[in-house]
Amino acid sequence: MNESENFLSLVERWLRNHRELGLKEVYLSPRGVESLLSLTARKSKTISLEKRGQKEKPRSPFLIAEGFSLEELPRGQKGLDLIRKELGNCTRCRLSQGRTHLVFGEGNPEAELMFVGEGPGREEDLQGVPFVGRAGQLLTKIIEAMGMKRGDVYIANVVKCRPPDNRAPLPDEIATCIPFLIKQIAVIRPKVIVALGKIAAQALLNTTEPITKLRGRFHLLGDILVMPTFHPAYLLRNPAMKRYVWEDMKLVRKEIDKIRVPS
Ligand code: SF4
Repeated sequence: MNESENFLSLVERWLRNHRELGLKEVYLSPRGVESLLSLTARKSKTISLEKRGQKEKPRSPFLIAEGFSLEELPRGQKGLDLIRKELGNCTRCRLSQGRTHLVFGEGNPEAELMFVGEGPGREEDLQGVPFVGRAGQLLTKIIEAMGMKRGDVYIANVVKCRPPDNRAPLPDEIATCIPFLIKQIAVIRPKVIVALGKIAAQALLNTTEPITKLRGRFHLLGDILVMPTFHPAYLLRNPAMKRYVWEDMKLVRKEIDKIRVPS
């Protein structure tokens, strides 16, 4: 299989996964279409999420699904401010109707480690801050058990407005909102992302595999390591599962330690 065929097979897999998630349409801006066409026409780029360390940096397939190139966004807080401005008083999906606050995200804008959940709950909606309810308190304990402070990491969700009655976000809501998360990831550029729960893991990794199969090992989003694990809210209902999360967090901690240059 040549490079162009590799690329097309990746696009095909991406579209197939979206169909399995129930999505009927994929938004491609004129810029996205242009990028897709130029990549195909030049036959020069291989996009693979399977291997690290290739000449051409692997990229998330979502990079072609929004209006402008992520390379144009400045890093850190400046980039986050631009994304927040672009979101504005967002009414792009039905979740805007029931929200009190849009929950953008919180933490270190240049964090090495990022946590991604599925969406805000009641407390988060009221305060406009992610993971502040009981599940959030448990997440803070997990971060501290890893030897870090909550302020060291960045915390965000796949959808930024609370789904009614805490239901899971629907595929079209995820598809509408996730480009903003991908942009946040692009400007923060964490080394590792912990995907909390099935929805976050499946949305980030573009898969329908269950969380029980995904957790316990790293996956790739572009060149970022992604560790899926159980959601803290699930741990509150099933405390016996905490040990699996702890095993996952030890692997994450090891990767973060490898990145840090000893002083
Ligand atoms: S969930 Fe995301 S896309 Fe939907 S209204 Fe809120 S910010 Fe906009």
